[in-house]
Amino acid sequence: MIPLDEAQARIARDIAALAPVEVPLSEARGLVLAEDITSAEAIPPFANTAMDGFAVRAADTQGASEASPNEVPVVATVAAGAVAPRPLEAGEAMRIMTGAPIPDGADAVIMVELTEAVGDDRVKLLAPVEVGNHIRPAGDDLEPGTVIFGPGEVLSPAHLGVCASVGRETVLAHARPRVGVFSTGDELMVGPDPLGPGQIRDSNRPSIVALVEEAGCIAVNLGLLRDDEGEIEAALRSAVGPDATNPVDALITSGGVSMGDFDFVKRVLSRLGDMNWMQVAIKPAKPLAFGMLMGTPIFGLPGNPVSSMVSFELFARPSLLSMMGRPINTRPTALAIADEPMHRPTDGKTYFDRVIASPEPDGTWRIRSAGGQGSHQLTSMARANALAVMPDGVNVDAGGRVKIMLLD
Ligand code: AMP
Ligand code: MG
Repeated sequence: MIPLDEAQARIARDIAALAPVEVPLSEARGLVLAEDITSAEAIPPFANTAMDGFAVRAADTQGASEASPNEVPVVATVAAGAVAPRPLEAGEAMRIMTGAPIPDGADAVIMVELTEAVGDDRVKLLAPVEVGNHIRPAGDDLEPGTVIFGPGEVLSPAHLGVCASVGRETVLAHARPRVGVFSTGDELMVGPDPLGPGQIRDSNRPSIVALVEEAGCIAVNLGLLRDDEGEIEAALRSAVGPDATNPVDALITSGGVSMGDFDFVKRVLSRLGDMNWMQVAIKPAKPLAFGMLMGTPIFGLPGNPVSSMVSFELFARPSLLSMMGRPINTRPTALAIADEPMHRPTDGKTYFDRVIASPEPDGTWRIRSAGGQGSHQLTSMARANALAVMPDGVNVDAGGRVKIMLLD
């Protein structure tokens, strides 16, 4: 068995970020920027009002109160998207709406709540305001020429908004990986038909396709393959290499990589790829195949449903995020308090137990088992929202502290 971190390091050596491509903003969420984004203009581009109210000269509000208001004529109305017809003179007000440019000659905005209309063309100012009141100056968010974002920035919804506000319609970002997914096994079937003798349904493919998409990649569903070398080789060649009809940037298979006589994925990959066959010191998900197949990384995950998902979490997901250029490729971790004892055998492995983690009002996480921990018991994986990381030789009593890896 090899330690988890060594297996992860072996894989990381072969993984590189995909080349940058020009991507429309509408498709860029979660991608990683590969250029500088610069603001040519000031944002906001002009001084404008943060409130609905009246543009005035602050001096004309001095001494005003509800008991003794300053009454002035309203000489214009400025809506957002419009400009004042002429400069504001001393002793005047202009009605103004949030986002509208401050008229020349005005130096403050008094909000509508501090005024009282007198007919349509006069207003009482009921309080004094300072110069600059409710005015958002030009360049208050960004000065012209500012480099706002640089390579490595992960594009969140707010980043996309900023890019749009400086006039960008596309950005240069690392490409979103296309990830081929297939499952293998003569015992597998799909759909509602009654199971034949010895049959089970293919549950890995939907789970792994969803994990790939959740990681922000494009899943290419390559189907359910028989335990047949020719069929497996044809599927691989359709996805990678010179004759690929549906090329992918990475491949994920499940099943057929253990020590059994019918582990055909293993046979085909040994022949075609440059593979590492690993027994990783973890439970679940001990067997793992990783290698390069005609230049494309391939993850041969174990067949047991929980093993394939945990293996995806520990090996495939970090790699896919690195291919996207993500600076951080791990799930968030936290320290949690165990609500019940968590015991494990001493066998040289790190255990990843499926747990339900709930935050206390003060932010402390508490965990309890999500159910049966067998590698075939997928329902506890469905209930779990975290994996408790239990190193060898560590038994946790109720109230003890455990590191958890949050899955959502
Ligand atoms: P294998 O790695 O092919 O020997 O499979 C190990 C175990 O996982 C066996 O019990 C398989 O039936 C099961 N298994 C393999 N692939 C899948 C799958 N796609 N969905 C559900 N179970 C699977
Ligand atoms: Mg199999």
